Amino acid sequence: MTDFRAEVKKWLAENVPADLDREDVTVRRDWDRKLYEAGYAGLSWPTQHGGRGLGPREEFVFHEEAALAGAPEGYGRVGRLLTGPLLMKHGTDEQMSRFLPPILSGEEIWCQGFSEPEAGSDLANIKTTATREGDEYRINGHKIWTSFGDNADLCLLLARTSPTERRHHNLGMFLLDMRQPGVEVRPIRQITGGSRFSELYFTDAVVHERSRVGGEHDGWKMAMAVLTEERGPADAITRYVSYVGGVQRLERCCAPEDPRVSELRTRVELIRWHALRALEPGEPRKAEVNAVFKLLWSQTWQDLAGFGVSLSCPEHEDYWRHQYLESRGATIYSGTSQIQRNMIGERLLGLPR
Ligand SMILES: Cc1cc2nc3c(=O)[nH]c(=O)nc-3n(C[C@H](O)[C@H](O)[C@H](O)COP(=O)(O)OP(=O)(O)OC[C@H]3O[C@@H](n4cnc5c(N)ncnc54)[C@H](O)[C@@H]3O)c2cc1C
Repeated sequence: MTDFRAEVKKWLAENVPADLDREDVTVRRDWDRKLYEAGYAGLSWPTQHGGRGLGPREEFVFHEEAALAGAPEGYGRVGRLLTGPLLMKHGTDEQMSRFLPPILSGEEIWCQGFSEPEAGSDLANIKTTATREGDEYRINGHKIWTSFGDNADLCLLLARTSPTERRHHNLGMFLLDMRQPGVEVRPIRQITGGSRFSELYFTDAVVHERSRVGGEHDGWKMAMAVLTEERGPADAITRYVSYVGGVQRLERCCAPEDPRVSELRTRVELIRWHALRALEPGEPRKAEVNAVFKLLWSQTWQDLAGFGVSLSCPEHEDYWRHQYLESRGATIYSGTSQIQRNMIGERLLGLPR
């Protein structure tokens, strides 16, 4: 591991662009391509799918070093973190050979089309329909809060496959081509000034049955697999290292003498240890453990950013303001804090529903 860390450090020192706009889509996509060309994309993916076949710990080390080196965040994260692992577990050979290589190379960008205006926490309430016509489905409906929707080539889409079955048993998971007639994308303006998510409107868009993941009514099972991954350590590693950057700003500049900084640093370190523990194979209660983890990192981020912004440090005012606004959504996306607490209460602690 020491050798691997040294190799990564060296490569990053030579390759992280000196002057970069971390929010810029081109910068982020260029970084994805660079990682791929150097063999750092999909470190823990099996070699038959183009990865390096290393473990999650190497993945952790890479992300840790990348963030410490100030590397940009890649843009293809929905594909790498959600669609890719889902396909490797539940996809067909044809789906894997078609979709995995451009996910790794960063050529194709994915978005996650789950939430709708009347279906967020209550995801099984979605209204978007996938109506079968021969070997195709017609997609009609409306998705909202779709991150990366404005630049996505493909959408991991949850849609209702039958009007009659019970609501958890009539959902399907589809790999939908966004570059087709019948798909309209309307970006949503955010409080940060950016526009990282969108609304999607589907009017008779088409998806072939070979682009359905799992059985026609297996969508709920697929969605739960995706959400468990989304709340897991793979994603939180990149977040943890960005919080380290925040703590370093506090220690070096904004509040070097303030004892509250050491409490925040400890909480950030706890995320690291929790992530490392969650990466251990064989954890039987993955969904519940990830719910604890999601609560931990989202709340820590908001507390860290809230503290940072309260200091009005002239040097880092813009940074903290941005962190503060960005962190607001963290207790909402990937399942709200209340939903995580319900899950922990019911499934981990055995409390009554
Ligand atoms: C920055 C950001 C990015 C996002 N990106 C995506 C994306 O890429 N793709 C996607 O599909 N979605 C995305 N989402 C949507 C996100 O998943 C939903 O916002 C989230 O699931 C909550 O759903 P909702 O907004 O409909 O709120 P609601 O479900 O209506 O919840 C409203 C409030 O009621 C509470 N509540 C609801 N039900 C319960 C309950 N049973 N018990 C206790 N409290 C409850 C909630 O905790 C919340 O406080 C994103 C959201 C944000 C903020």
